[in-house]
Amino acid sequence: KNNLNERVELPVYKDELYDLSSGINQLLQRIENAIERERQFTSDASHELRTPLASLRGTLEVLIRKPREIKEYEEKITYSLTEIDRMTETTEQLLLLARLDANNNELNKILISLPSLINEILVRYDKDILIKNLKVELQIQNKTELLVPKYHANLILDNIINNAIKYSKHNQSIIIQIISIDNSILCKIKDEGIGIKHEDIPNVFNHFFRSEALEHKHISGNGLGLSIALKSAEAINAIISLESEPNAGTTFKINFLSKS
Ligand code: ADP
Repeated sequence: KNNLNERVELPVYKDELYDLSSGINQLLQRIENAIERERQFTSDASHELRTPLASLRGTLEVLIRKPREIKEYEEKITYSLTEIDRMTETTEQLLLLARLDANNNELNKILISLPSLINEILVRYDKDILIKNLKVELQIQNKTELLVPKYHANLILDNIINNAIKYSKHNQSIIIQIISIDNSILCKIKDEGIGIKHEDIPNVFNHFFRSEALEHKHISGNGLGLSIALKSAEAINAIISLESEPNAGTTFKINFLSKS
């Protein structure tokens, strides 16, 4: 009789378990769909924004070359062109974020030596370094070949080095250190700039986050640079961390897996 009872109870229990597991599956599926929809939305939105921005820019460029009696026109058009450039930059960065979500593994296969990548990036910012009279020092602790995936490492380091330059004051120093430990490479980027308030540190990787602190407001940006750096790091299993003190400076650390 006992055996029979067990057999009667079992299907009820099984049904409930089945409901639970199919409920979880449905939930997971819905989360996956939502993530996919968001990715698709960002990509579509960026494509849709690109075309009107390019055509607006074209129109204004024609207008600015025409003779005009009123000085105000020139100022207004110049202002509009600057705003269009800002929007174009944000659009390009959103599109890049959507593409990084798609994670193209083929891109991870192109390797570059870390010191030469850093030198390539520094050349891009020559003018800003010169204008602010910054002292940028690259210290390499180990001479063995330090190879990293070029595409993603460039996106990480470009954004972090750009910030170190942007948030430094005139005549300050930036030290970039490369230390190789076993099969990982640690890259430290240390600036002496305006620093980040402690309560802001957990938010710096959020999309569009910009510190409300006064010194930060005078510096232009859209708050997407570090989101791109973080997403690129995830694609190649690199780890980014940071330490910062307001008015003393910021140090970003990136841990790359060394490739050979
Ligand atoms: P942004 O375009 O605003 O620079 P990011 O995503 O690159 O956007 O950085 C987010 C925010 O983190 C910045 O607005 C700034 O407040 C802070 N931040 C990032 N790097 C630094 C740095 N090296 N020194 C001081 N603040 C920084």
